[in-house]
Amino acid sequence: MAYSHGKMMLDMALKRKHEDQVSSESISGVNAQNAESMPPAKLEAKEWTILHSYLDISGFSDDLFYGADELFTMSTPDPTPLPLMTPEPVTAHVTAPDPVLPPVTPASAPENPTLSVLVSNETGLYQECECCLLQDQHVRADHQGEAAENCPQCERWHKHQTEAAETRLHYRSDADKDWPGDTSVRSVDLQKVIMLPRMPGVKSAVFTRRISTYHETFASVGKKQNKRKTISVVWHEGIAGRNAKEITSAYAAALEKERDIRHVIYWVDNCSAQNKNWCLFSSLLTLVNSETISAEDVTLKFFEPGHTFMSADSFHHGVEQEMRHRPGGVVFDFDDFLSVVANSNSRKVEVVELKNENIRAWMDGHYAAKTKKMPRLAELKVMQLRRGSRSMFVKKSHGEEDFIELDFLQKKFNPSVPTTLRLQDWGVEEAKKTEILKNLVPLMPFSGAPCWSETSMRLKNRDKLSPSVD
Ligand SMILES: [Zn+2]
Ligand SMILES: [Zn+2]
Repeated sequence: MAYSHGKMMLDMALKRKHEDQVSSESISGVNAQNAESMPPAKLEAKEWTILHSYLDISGFSDDLFYGADELFTMSTPDPTPLPLMTPEPVTAHVTAPDPVLPPVTPASAPENPTLSVLVSNETGLYQECECCLLQDQHVRADHQGEAAENCPQCERWHKHQTEAAETRLHYRSDADKDWPGDTSVRSVDLQKVIMLPRMPGVKSAVFTRRISTYHETFASVGKKQNKRKTISVVWHEGIAGRNAKEITSAYAAALEKERDIRHVIYWVDNCSAQNKNWCLFSSLLTLVNSETISAEDVTLKFFEPGHTFMSADSFHHGVEQEMRHRPGGVVFDFDDFLSVVANSNSRKVEVVELKNENIRAWMDGHYAAKTKKMPRLAELKVMQLRRGSRSMFVKKSHGEEDFIELDFLQKKFNPSVPTTLRLQDWGVEEAKKTEILKNLVPLMPFSGAPCWSETSMRLKNRDKLSPSVD
């Protein structure tokens, strides 16, 4: 076995991300009260101990232990999902929050870490892995607390742990490497949806439909890459949604932002809607074969599901902090949010505002008869597209030396940059705009502060002919 049990356990992480990305009520509404104040309380309530049977730390440096990806787990998993992970849909029966948010202290790593809940020491962020949670319960119920040999479930978990550890090593190695100037290494993720206007102390904000705002982050990875600024691609539902074509458009915008780079490496999670789909793969192939960018290759590296702590998380934490530091935690409009992102994280960021002209009709060009004979997408750990080739090059493990070349495209697929998806911004329903103007705008200060308007939000009414993208 290439990696020790102890390191595997250190890498064990608990996080359920993409359910979180459905609603920013967890940030700005009633659930924010719970979500933002519960994690520390949850931590204090737990008994933190080290499961020595799992923990073999010999051979690992302090750096690995206490670096940005330091992870801890809890010995007594609480099967109840943390409030942060499962915001309830906000409906009229929800009790309104107190008008003022308590000061928020990010959860800090416990003094005596244990092995079921993991906390990043750098950000205090939790991560939850369902596979590891189930395994924790399984070994307690069926094996007196120790993983067993010849048990299919324990074997599956062991493979998961081994791959999580291997993946983390490769991520850390990419973070530590002194990359040449023509290579850009980033982690990519969509921040939890922000609802604008964000008015955490205002009860009416909880009950008012607001504007979903999206932030796809291309965060630099590692200290040496820190001289490269993070690229934040920002838009909202009045401009476009967040389906595959639209997320792919955010990728294209980030690639065009550093069009002179020759080699691009993006660390991403396995979210099929965002990062592991044929629309994105086909479109990256188009881009790497276009004159739009100079890249010779674009590589996606995938984290093990559930173990996805990355520099983009840390960046998002900085954006959250910047919002909380605003008076009352208020973010009025889109301009205001752009300024929040630009001023966050010591301003090591370039903000790209995604506009209608950037939202393109990216196509899925894969040919199912070919791809069904290939490894499943879930198995892919590395995927590369190269200038001059219509193939994708993949690895099923981060440790593999050589890529496998796969022919995945329809013959008729034409790798050319498509036209825009819509003639104009997607727009929002008139009623939604009216509600905000009626319920929330009167509560905003008007003296010198930015105030919400159709102009400051770049809002147009939704054209009924405008296609939604599913
Ligand atoms: Zn896990
Ligand atoms: Zn078992």
